Amino acid sequence: MNHTVFPEHKKYSAFVVDDDPVILKLIDHCLSRTGFTISTAGSGTDALQRIIDQRPDCVLLDIMMPGMDGFEVCRRLREHTQLKATKIIIMSGKTYQSDRSHALALGADAFISKPVHVPSFSTQVLRIIEDRIHLTFWGVRGTLPLPGPRGVRYGGNTSCVSMEFSRGPILVFDAGTGIKVLSDHLMQRKQVGIDVKIFISHPHWDHINALPFFAPLYLRGNTVEILGPCQRHTCVEDYIRGQMDGVYFPITAQEFGARVIYTNLREEVIDIEQRVKVRTMLLNHPGHCLGYRIEYQDKAICYITDNELYPMTSGLRDQGYINKLKAFIHNATILITDTTYTDTEYANHINWGHSPLGEVVNLAHEAKVNTLYLFHHDPSQDDNAIDHKLETARARLHQLGSGTECYAPIEEKLLII
Ligand SMILES: [Zn+2]
Ligand SMILES: [Zn+2]
Repeated sequence: MNHTVFPEHKKYSAFVVDDDPVILKLIDHCLSRTGFTISTAGSGTDALQRIIDQRPDCVLLDIMMPGMDGFEVCRRLREHTQLKATKIIIMSGKTYQSDRSHALALGADAFISKPVHVPSFSTQVLRIIEDRIHLTFWGVRGTLPLPGPRGVRYGGNTSCVSMEFSRGPILVFDAGTGIKVLSDHLMQRKQVGIDVKIFISHPHWDHINALPFFAPLYLRGNTVEILGPCQRHTCVEDYIRGQMDGVYFPITAQEFGARVIYTNLREEVIDIEQRVKVRTMLLNHPGHCLGYRIEYQDKAICYITDNELYPMTSGLRDQGYINKLKAFIHNATILITDTTYTDTEYANHINWGHSPLGEVVNLAHEAKVNTLYLFHHDPSQDDNAIDHKLETARARLHQLGSGTECYAPIEEKLLII
């Protein structure tokens, strides 16, 4: 599967300013093969008037150039109201936080660190121009990975989802085995100063056991914040360090080279750089398990796993909880949720902490969710079983006359929201 697929997009224009002709050529190559119209200049002085005349969709600016540097070009471009819609991206090998903040304060929309990673560069520029969320599923299975031919179409890794925005940290949800694939992608980019927030739903193995394989943790210059709920007296730092105490894994957390921050979460709202809001809600699962609602502009993505929705017939249903969850996910653009069992399988797994398909579909429909993603599949289910769950869910939604669409996510497939 190829993560760097370019979806259909409008043809954009970009103006690149860099005093290094090799970089100009490289960026021209990266962007023109994905349909961009490119103009280039070797200095800020040469570029300024041409950019004002051309009004490109995006300007890519190096910082350190002789004469007028990138900051100065950015500042002057932002004085022109006719360039309001033009996105300005500062590109630099300098990774100091102060330079990034300065660029944003001058009106830049984003910061891309050099060296440029050729395979993902266009995707990154498109994300900034369109100001969309790039969501990737790195693991969709629950409980255990599913290696071998039974899981090749949807992928065999356990829970991990990432969201990238035009700027700010990468948000990751859970550290099942899928996080190893995400780690490989981030390492291929050779990006310095990676900023990641990893939200853990709860510390059951399938949600944390691949965290020690997340390579950015071991590199100086990166910042990784790990957030999640406490379990009685065991908090995030305890369970992350605990699984790396030398007994269960040979490398200890003392060997992390990144700046690692551990944050305990309750039901609360987290504000990320005043742009992205993450709300949390305790879910119906053994121990403390948090669901997340990520809000950006007019979009909301809900990550709700692991969670048990009791059917009415079970006699266990708590309507107060259902109503609270319904309000939490109401009108979500995307709901990614625990659909571990078919309704038939569920009969033998009541109180195991996971939901049957029928209840998930009803909930998504009643909460007016736009798109439902069936997630955290039982390891006994092969790809065909997931196909079957998907068909059943779609048929039920059709029967309900629902406006909710339904999909089963595929590992490494990029969704642009
Ligand atoms: Zn799980
Ligand atoms: Zn669990």
